[in-house]
Amino acid sequence: MNLARFPRLRLAHLPTPLEHLPRLSQALGGPEIWIKRDDCTGMSSGGNKTRKLEYLLAEARAQGADIVLTQGATQSNHARQTAACAARLGFDCHLLLEDRTHKSDPDYTANGNVFLDLLHGATVERFASNPDMNGELAKVGARLAATGRRPYLIPGGGSNATGALGYVNAALELVTQANDLGLRIDHVVHATGSAGTQAGLVAGLRGINAGVPLLGIGVRAPRDKQEENVYRLAAATAALCGCEGAVRREDVVANCDYVGTGYGFSTPGSIEAIQMLARLEGILLDPVYSGKGMAGLIDLVRKGRFQRGQNVVFIHTGGSVGLFGYVRDFGFQAPVATA
Ligand SMILES: *Cc1c(COP(=O)(O)O)cnc(C)c1O
Repeated sequence: MNLARFPRLRLAHLPTPLEHLPRLSQALGGPEIWIKRDDCTGMSSGGNKTRKLEYLLAEARAQGADIVLTQGATQSNHARQTAACAARLGFDCHLLLEDRTHKSDPDYTANGNVFLDLLHGATVERFASNPDMNGELAKVGARLAATGRRPYLIPGGGSNATGALGYVNAALELVTQANDLGLRIDHVVHATGSAGTQAGLVAGLRGINAGVPLLGIGVRAPRDKQEENVYRLAAATAALCGCEGAVRREDVVANCDYVGTGYGFSTPGSIEAIQMLARLEGILLDPVYSGKGMAGLIDLVRKGRFQRGQNVVFIHTGGSVGLFGYVRDFGFQAPVATA
């Protein structure tokens, strides 16, 4: 598990803090809940994709790329972090944004992450809902290469084995922090989507035989498909790290009961989770990923899945910028003038 042999550019503020959430833990009356602040990775308000981009963009630079391409949903946090990291490194950036929700709310289509994509100087191309966006990415890449550009293509979510190295590294970081704090971690919980985060974590935790179980809360696919995607990528990532065979199928566990209407739509549970974290701990979650991940954790605590005396670490994967695309879902009235 010698990560130093992989090319890497330093983009993230690391290590991210590992903090206790006393008021949330008390309000739920179950386990002690801790939070790993990967929303604080630094680039353009942070998030989990920056760890992956440290390895991906090192590969882009080594290949002599001059433009970075990736794809995601309209309010993609991955696209926004790619645009920011590309700007910092002097790459051009082109984003393919897929309309997965058919929302026409201008907050959703132009504010939040979309606004920041443009602010970072990325060019943006919109796509209708499409099951093969990585195929579209390849087409656009080929078109650019034919004009003499040197594109580097990053799959959706930065989720290939190179990107997942960022979360192998995060697993090592987390275990070291817990060791220094004398914290026995009983479970790790986080939101899982394009699978790279969970795959890297599983490969890292298994690669050092940490004995820390991991639960991914799904945001899109049904459980079988999500676990299969994570397992395939985790096995490839472990092999890349020299730990072939370290990940067993049973190490990959996802719970996809909190997706609700579908990807990109808030749920009553995610809105409740966002408000609880905002009001009990002053922490911002998002409606698409971290809010659903936390909604899953809250519900499982209420159902007794995790108990008093245990320590559960929630990995905050970021996304708070997305809140500005979902203002209406909260139903707040604008404050009125009293004088
Ligand atoms: C992308 C993302 C995730 C999911 O990570 P994957 O590696 O795609 O599974 C979770 N939370 C936020 C905020 C994200 O942007």
